[in-house]
Amino acid sequence: MRSKSILLLGSIALDTIKTRYGKESNLIGGSATYAALSSRLFRKVNLVGIIGDDFPSEGVKILKSSCNSIKDLTIKRGKTFRWGGEYRENGDDRETLFTDLGVFENFSPKLSPHNLDPGIVFLANIHPELQLSILNQCKSNPFVVTDTMNLWIETAKNSLGEVLKLTDLLLINESEAFDLTKIKNTDKSIKKLFEMGPKKVLVKYGSKGSTLYGADGTSISVGVFNIPKVIDPTGAGDSYGGGLVSGLADGLSMTESMLRGTVMASLCIEDFGIKSIYSSDIDKVNKRIATLR
Ligand code: AMP
Repeated sequence: MRSKSILLLGSIALDTIKTRYGKESNLIGGSATYAALSSRLFRKVNLVGIIGDDFPSEGVKILKSSCNSIKDLTIKRGKTFRWGGEYRENGDDRETLFTDLGVFENFSPKLSPHNLDPGIVFLANIHPELQLSILNQCKSNPFVVTDTMNLWIETAKNSLGEVLKLTDLLLINESEAFDLTKIKNTDKSIKKLFEMGPKKVLVKYGSKGSTLYGADGTSISVGVFNIPKVIDPTGAGDSYGGGLVSGLADGLSMTESMLRGTVMASLCIEDFGIKSIYSSDIDKVNKRIATLR
């Protein structure tokens, strides 16, 4: 990998979340926020995204101090992306209550010169057209890590297909893999995913860990750092992604990068929103990683 800079695109949101432990409104969240905060302890990202003028100044401060650069974070008159979700009693399944794109609706990111040649691009969950637009602006060939979710699988399948053709590593939940391939069998579904273009596929199995699959049939699995009381699972996948890409940028092996992702996800779910992940330090992360090795 040439340069080790990470360019991160994703949502920056105000979330309303209901779990069995309570309901919290207008929490600072979004896929890019969780990924940036997760990566920050090891390697700060260059952030691309948009917020409205209703986004709290405290949130801008958090992003500024957590990122290497927020030059490509646009602040526009209007409403910040808002998402609401409610978790079922088992804590794993959730229902999206609303998704209001707000200022993301007409967002057309134009990268600053210093962001045109990143080593890694992390396309966190957001509309695939935006993901494509970022890839089309990159001058050389970065290592592309892509995440997505059911909404885009259902509403933007063609542009998502284009993104997948340019993807080196796809991060996906098992249920999203079934939705994307329309195959409800793990092995067959993964085979189909490879036909869509990504060079490697990393499937997140929730509390059962994650497995990285290669097109040649090889695989690497890691378990989870067990959290007895999951307060709010929101952002676990994005935090995993942030930890993982920071490991890749640091030149760690896939297994070590996956462990970093796993531990960042474990921190994320210990409290509502970004609270736990933002208050974590590198010692805590490394201690958890050591127990998993
Ligand atoms: P996760 O729990 O990893 O799926 O991530 C949850 C985060 O993703 C929340 O903070 C939401 O604001 C954000 N989010 C929810 N739906 C979308 C969407 N359709 N596109 C981008 N981000 C989303």
